[in-house]
Amino acid sequence: MKNRIEIVKSDITKLHADAIVNAANRTLLGGGGVDGAIHQAAGHELLEECKKLGGCYTGEAKITNGYHLPSKYVIHTVGPVWRGGDKGEPELLAKCYKNCMLLAKKYQIHTLAFPSISTGIYGYPIEKASVIALQEIVKFLKNEEIPEKVIIVCYSDHDYQIYLQNFNRILTSEKN
Ligand code: ADP
Repeated sequence: MKNRIEIVKSDITKLHADAIVNAANRTLLGGGGVDGAIHQAAGHELLEECKKLGGCYTGEAKITNGYHLPSKYVIHTVGPVWRGGDKGEPELLAKCYKNCMLLAKKYQIHTLAFPSISTGIYGYPIEKASVIALQEIVKFLKNEEIPEKVIIVCYSDHDYQIYLQNFNRILTSEKN
């Protein structure tokens, strides 16, 4: 598992992966944070394609081309807004990761890059969200050969450290 999951600190729009995931909103028409950065880097063609998709429900995912991005595809998913944690947020966040990986499998995407979904504007505590992200990715990769590799792209050093710590914790607990 260790060689199929990589945690990096980077700007996801610069990444050469087969697909990058966008933490979008339900309109899929662009927004702030990573969504704005992806739309800006991909160009207006991405917005034109997104307009045809009719939005996306929280926890679901839709795929488009990557246009001017280094990656071939963008998988758009809508994370839950944090409302204290007892409004189905953990399940919805897990669904985001799972549905993105199911699309990756369907489109034969070998390398898939995720940002830290919901932990920016949507306010999901990074400590909790990172554990859900990692557990969901590990669970999926155990049962599937594609995607071959998942890259988790952290934007800040703080987020990067938290993901690394929790990943090591999960790997250690798996061995025992
Ligand atoms: P959400 O609305 O799902 O919370 P945000 O885009 O506000 O989405 O934040 C999600 C995560 O993406 C945050 O950790 C934020 O720091 C990070 N982020 C913002 N811009 C980029 C980028 N260019 N590349 C990678 N991660 C980014």
